[in-house]
Amino acid sequence: MVYTQFIDGALTTGSNRETWINYNPAYNTPLEEVCQANEEDIEAAVHSSAKAFRIWRAKTGAERGRVLTKAAHILRSRLEKIALLETQDVGKPISESLAVDVSSAADALEYFGGIAASIHGEYVDLKNAFGYTRPEPLGICAGIGAWNYPIQIAAWKAAPALACGNSMIFKPSELTPVTALELAKAFMEAGAPPGLFNVVQGDGRVGAMLVNHPSIAKISLTGSVSTGKKIFAGAASQLKKVTLELGGKSPLIIFEDADIHNAVSAAMLANFYTQGEVCSNGTRVFVHRQIFNSFLTQLKERTEKIRLGEPADPDTQMGALISKAHMEKITRFINSGKSSGATLLTGGFQPEKDFKGRDISSGNFLAPAIFTDCDDSMEICKEEIFGPVLSVLSFDSEEEVIERANNTPYGLSAGVFTNDIKRGHRVIHQLQAGTCWINNYNITPIELPFGGFKQSGQGRENSLAAIQYYTQLKSVYVELGNVESPY
Ligand code: NAD
Repeated sequence: MVYTQFIDGALTTGSNRETWINYNPAYNTPLEEVCQANEEDIEAAVHSSAKAFRIWRAKTGAERGRVLTKAAHILRSRLEKIALLETQDVGKPISESLAVDVSSAADALEYFGGIAASIHGEYVDLKNAFGYTRPEPLGICAGIGAWNYPIQIAAWKAAPALACGNSMIFKPSELTPVTALELAKAFMEAGAPPGLFNVVQGDGRVGAMLVNHPSIAKISLTGSVSTGKKIFAGAASQLKKVTLELGGKSPLIIFEDADIHNAVSAAMLANFYTQGEVCSNGTRVFVHRQIFNSFLTQLKERTEKIRLGEPADPDTQMGALISKAHMEKITRFINSGKSSGATLLTGGFQPEKDFKGRDISSGNFLAPAIFTDCDDSMEICKEEIFGPVLSVLSFDSEEEVIERANNTPYGLSAGVFTNDIKRGHRVIHQLQAGTCWINNYNITPIELPFGGFKQSGQGRENSLAAIQYYTQLKSVYVELGNVESPY
């Protein structure tokens, strides 16, 4: 099957002859051929997006909200089909794509559909005059996605953008081109004007075309810090608005009074969910020296029981990494950890068989790895690995652990486990991270802002906070008296 762009309400292969093969990470077998968009396709997408924007911005918030809500229902009604497409494309377990990926995309559409009618400005009383503000849409927004949560990322960008009256051109990662098209179809069936949500396919070259296009008002990226810097610089030449959701090397701090079972559960979720390919992962697990050994014993024992294997099996808990190249990159990090003196407590190898004895040697499977005897200066404790590699570090005092946790150019997330309510808040308030948890990890409800401090990003997704990143405020002064003039 040839996978395509979705422009002006219809699938099209576009005008380019360049294609690439998209693979299923569990077997490294081809899934489909995908057409890379060229400049002509981008022009077609921009033209249709501009047309849709004129129609869409003239609608009331309630009308826009209705379309988003209907699109959410359509996604939910196709939950199993879309979840399977996501699992085949990303390699993540079907249990995850059923429980999280598609439903979190639908949650975003429902949430922003629900508030579309309430987006409003302010009235300001002035002497003999009054003023008011109007949050107006920006125009055509471009969304550029990473490959780990394809449909969720597309919906997290599209839902607030469309609720605010914008149109969107979305470019999924070239590694996961499939489910953005399902979202585009759902919008069309829900009554969106053709072109409101266009999908263009391709690699960074297509992303750069969107960044440089003068008719595109805003870029929202989910990706790595290095891509974020390129996009920020590119957008600066036209002073475009940007939202950047980037990578991290987040700390998870476990104090001696924490519930150890819960803390171990959180550390595993913070490192092994979606094969560890999660931006907000708490990959530096700081454990108080008093409980270090018992924490480590439980962590190792439970990690070794993770059911790794065939992603489409509902019993599977951990699937395949996105690509061979990515698996090799993670393996290089594991070797770096070993050669720098850390102890690989478990995992870090490529299993031949899965938990039911099936041959998985052709896929990108990696047993979840735990490093101990780590030092903050090791590469594995400093760089984002974006795979199932957890480093455990011990600490003695609150002051010390806060300083070490903050000693990173990243600032996406942080977690604290303690039963001391005062300490929980005190520590979280001192951590330099945009998305934090006390006594849990990696929970991202649509109602709470999501985004990073420092080099982990710009702007916020989700919640009411997202509205300000998809609107521009117009102030209107209305005179009720005479014009006072010195002339
Ligand atoms: P990536 O930066 O390689 O690619 C992200 C997207 O940017 C892709 O669609 C890619 O084609 C595009 N791109 C690449 N170069 C570009 C350029 N010069 N101009 C425009 N677009 C360009 O990231 P990835 O490997 O797809 O994803 C993994 C990274 O994403 C990790 O660093 C992870 O932490 C981050 N991430 C962040 C969040 C978040 O919400 N903060 C969520 C998921 C992933």
